[in-house]
Amino acid sequence: SQPIHVTARVAPLSSRLVLALVEDRTRERRVEAIRRDFVANVSHELKTPVGAINLLAEAVLEASGDPEAVERFAGRMQTESERLSRLVQQIIELSRLQGDDPLEEPAAVKVDEIIERAVDTSAIDAQAKQIKVVHDGEPGLEVLGSAGQIAVAVGNLVANAIAYSPERSKVVVGAKEADMMVEITVTDQGIGIPAGELDRIFERFYRVDPARHRSTGGTGLGLSIVKHVAASHGGEVRVWSVEGQGSSFTLSLPRRTHHERPTTSQEATP
Ligand code: ADP
Repeated sequence: SQPIHVTARVAPLSSRLVLALVEDRTRERRVEAIRRDFVANVSHELKTPVGAINLLAEAVLEASGDPEAVERFAGRMQTESERLSRLVQQIIELSRLQGDDPLEEPAAVKVDEIIERAVDTSAIDAQAKQIKVVHDGEPGLEVLGSAGQIAVAVGNLVANAIAYSPERSKVVVGAKEADMMVEITVTDQGIGIPAGELDRIFERFYRVDPARHRSTGGTGLGLSIVKHVAASHGGEVRVWSVEGQGSSFTLSLPRRTHHERPTTSQEATP
């Protein structure tokens, strides 16, 4: 038989190794910088509610002779501590996702169940503003990933849609197949996002309107969590928005096809 001639186009092993090491160091340094930045931001963000709670506690002590004032200060203390616990919870979620490493063992996740969960979780906030949250998507779709992470991401999108919408408006959560992906879309009729801000809203702690923000009690972390969930699943998140009319966020995740069907114990039985 003819000898096979192969032209080596790849770099020799030694230089490939060096390249890999350099890439590794660069990545390490980048991750380290992100972490440092994150810690600085977190300390800053935590100081606000903690400081407020301290001041309010002092005010309660000083107003002990005035039950009405005590009640007022205690109420504000509760609001601030709820904000603080939301913040801590989201910081924990985000720091878990921070590396963007791909998931180790993606499982089959039912999209309908995820959406139902997000709709249920948001029910109290939706009711408070008489907002109708509608689940309207292709049924029976499945994605590959972490059910917990995907539920958090979709939950954040639905929570935002409600938070940034006027009373008596509508939020629609849909899902459809798109090639190898499933697109989960959350559409609202809310305040919308200025075009110039669209690429910044996924940054940690970024808010379009920090003043308004305090009243909605948001943390500025919700969308960066969504972005990290998308990245770790090999998917992405996109946004369309018209100021004053509404926004639409699409989270696309790898679709589970029959080829990827894991053998379950049921299928293994003859
Ligand atoms: P937050 O806790 O502030 O909601 P996010 O990271 O979830 O933090 O969102 C970042 C910013 O993007 C919000 O402060 C808000 O200004 C804007 N935003 C997010 N979702 C929407 C939406 N559905 N409609 C209008 N603005 C939105």
